[in-house]
Amino acid sequence: MERIRIGPEQRLFVLTGAGVSAESGLKTFRDQDGLWEGSRVEDVATPEAWARDAARVWRFYSQRRREARKAEPNAAHRALADMEQALGERFFLCTQNVDDLHERAGSRRLVHMHGELFASRCEFSGAGMGAFACSRGPFQDDSLYETEAAIARCACGGRIRPHIVWFGEMPLKMNRIEREIAQSTTMLVVGTSGAVYPAANFVHWAGAHVRRIYIGPEEPGNADAFSEIVLGKAGEVLPGLVDVD
Ligand code: NAD
Ligand code: ZN
Repeated sequence: MERIRIGPEQRLFVLTGAGVSAESGLKTFRDQDGLWEGSRVEDVATPEAWARDAARVWRFYSQRRREARKAEPNAAHRALADMEQALGERFFLCTQNVDDLHERAGSRRLVHMHGELFASRCEFSGAGMGAFACSRGPFQDDSLYETEAAIARCACGGRIRPHIVWFGEMPLKMNRIEREIAQSTTMLVVGTSGAVYPAANFVHWAGAHVRRIYIGPEEPGNADAFSEIVLGKAGEVLPGLVDVD
């Protein structure tokens, strides 16, 4: 396709999903069988799953940590880091991914709205804990926990959990994200099925004047909301796509 020009007064907002890491060998979420790496979402990525069997949840995320350590950023991650180099503060990246491949490719102006695989926190910390809140924040952690007994404990007695936004929990950094969307003039959405909310609504939050482009091998569920759809792999479409003034 022809290049996307970003003029001096323009700002680019990028939303990425699991598809951006697919070419690094990390599986997307909705592969045909409806499972995430062989597990049902309800068994590994909900607060109920944690309450029922925390060791199972940790085995799942420990395995994700192992795989992410082995993976390397691909051409799509690098192209987005290049865009940030060229645009500086006129660039912003919001990722639904929990892997660290964007950072490892050099992205800095980014938020992980669904949390980070290589961070953990106390199960009593975070939003929605009310009077039981623990003040210990998320911390870097690449440990593997395979059994209930192995799960580390916080000073408050709580168990250490993945710093991941599970289904039914509040996404992170939403104020910042809304502000960045409101200021953007071009929105690029890459490798996300358009089925997980609120991320699937970002394209609707952008004004009608905003150029809204989707990139991925198949149309997303919210395809109608985009002004352009570019069918192709992120690693093939993104390099050289943006032309910065
Ligand atoms: P999804 O699995 O629902 O959708 C993936 C999308 O990527 C699909 O639309 C598919 O067509 C597209 N895709 C596949 N290969 C691609 C490629 N080479 N280039 C571009 N696009 C490609 O993913 P989602 O919409 O991001 O939602 C999944 C949820 O699960 C997210 O909330 C995320 O936190 C989590 N998740 C994260 C990772 C990760 O961090 N790497 C991996 C799987 C799931
Ligand atoms: Zn605690």
